[in-house]
Amino acid sequence: MDFGFKKEESELIEEVREFIEQKITSELVEETHQLGAIYGGAEAREFIKKLGARGWLTPAWPRDYGGLDSSEMVTYIIRDEMAYAGLPLYFVAAYNAGPMILRDGSEEMKREFLPPIARGEIEFALGYTEPQAGSDLAALNIRAEDRGDHFLLNGQKMFNTSTHVADYHWLAARTNFDGPKHKGISLMVVDLKSPGITIRPLITMAGWRTNEVYYDDVVVPKKNMMGEKNRGFYYLMGALDFERMFAPSAYKRLFEEIVDYARETVFNGRPLSKDPLIRQKLAQMAIELEVSKLLYYQLAYILDREKIPNYQASMEKMFATEVAQRICNTGMEVLGLYGQLKKGDPRAPLAGKLEFFYRSSVVETIYAGTSEIQRNIIAERGLGLPRG
Ligand SMILES: Cc1cc2nc3c(=O)[nH]c(=O)nc-3n(C[C@H](O)[C@H](O)[C@H](O)COP(=O)(O)OP(=O)(O)OC[C@H]3O[C@@H](n4cnc5c(N)ncnc54)[C@H](O)[C@@H]3O)c2cc1C
Repeated sequence: MDFGFKKEESELIEEVREFIEQKITSELVEETHQLGAIYGGAEAREFIKKLGARGWLTPAWPRDYGGLDSSEMVTYIIRDEMAYAGLPLYFVAAYNAGPMILRDGSEEMKREFLPPIARGEIEFALGYTEPQAGSDLAALNIRAEDRGDHFLLNGQKMFNTSTHVADYHWLAARTNFDGPKHKGISLMVVDLKSPGITIRPLITMAGWRTNEVYYDDVVVPKKNMMGEKNRGFYYLMGALDFERMFAPSAYKRLFEEIVDYARETVFNGRPLSKDPLIRQKLAQMAIELEVSKLLYYQLAYILDREKIPNYQASMEKMFATEVAQRICNTGMEVLGLYGQLKKGDPRAPLAGKLEFFYRSSVVETIYAGTSEIQRNIIAERGLGLPRG
């Protein structure tokens, strides 16, 4: 078994690092932290177009649709290097919706949406959750009435992040109220500037914004429906499998800074690095980060063999996000009460980064499916146990 990267992949890593050194500024990183997303700010829009110009947003897509005909391994390498540089790339259009359009969308839809996504010109926002439908997504009931050449939409969505800055809503709506719940859902692409859409902010404990979105007689052309009517739940499950991945190096960088802090700080006359408890905890985190990395690259490996990872994606997402929280907890123990000081406070160790990451890491085991839901998926689809 060979765990190393191929020669061309190792060369790419060098190229990406050089690009990062030239193009990632502290202003860009700060803007992304403030927004809680890479998309939306002025700095980021320019940066994303530079990524797109190199084909680095969608390297695995066919050239016809704006890709490089390369591999998912390349995509995963780019994402992890960016995460290490403080700029985790989360694009709904390039990473969740786009791959599903590529697989199951009409040719018209592919031509309309995929090339501008690949160039970094447009972004989507996820439109799944509703007040009564989170873990149980099949319970969603935003109504899409079939009016011949268009749907008429009425209802509410909840926690739909980035809808205030994205261009399109990747929306799951109910098109059939009879029969099994999961067989009456369709997926569609909605222009977020359509009349009748109202977006209201919900601010997370990390300080960044998600939204509730109201649909009031919103017209969506039929051509914007993904694949077949009433099969949206299956596309949605596929898109979730693409979404459930988490580049581990965002927290690897934080971990390395915590280790440096322990190395350099003397407390009660003794270096923190000599404290047996701290050493044990840091060693444990180093192991868990390594496991996260292997689970992460396993997903690329599966995708490159033309399969969509399923329970493996749940394993990676669940493990990596829980490791992220354990790293933050460990960091708080190492830094002591100073760890709670915010960015901007001159006494804050690591420039207040840990305090920010600690708050951000909380939501990561919730969105894209909670840890309990990931464990259910692993039990059912990974181990073949009956539904709970
Ligand atoms: C910051 C943030 C951003 C988000 N962004 C988006 C977005 O962009 N688009 C979008 O569509 N959604 C988004 N979400 C929604 C997110 O996916 C849901 O919050 C999540 O799936 C949980 O649903 P819920 O909040 O309704 O909780 P519930 O489903 O009500 O769950 C409540 C608790 O019960 C547990 N639980 C539920 N069912 C089971 C079960 N069968 N077995 C064991 N335990 C169970 C859950 O694990 C959880 O702890 C976001 C959420 C947050 C917090």
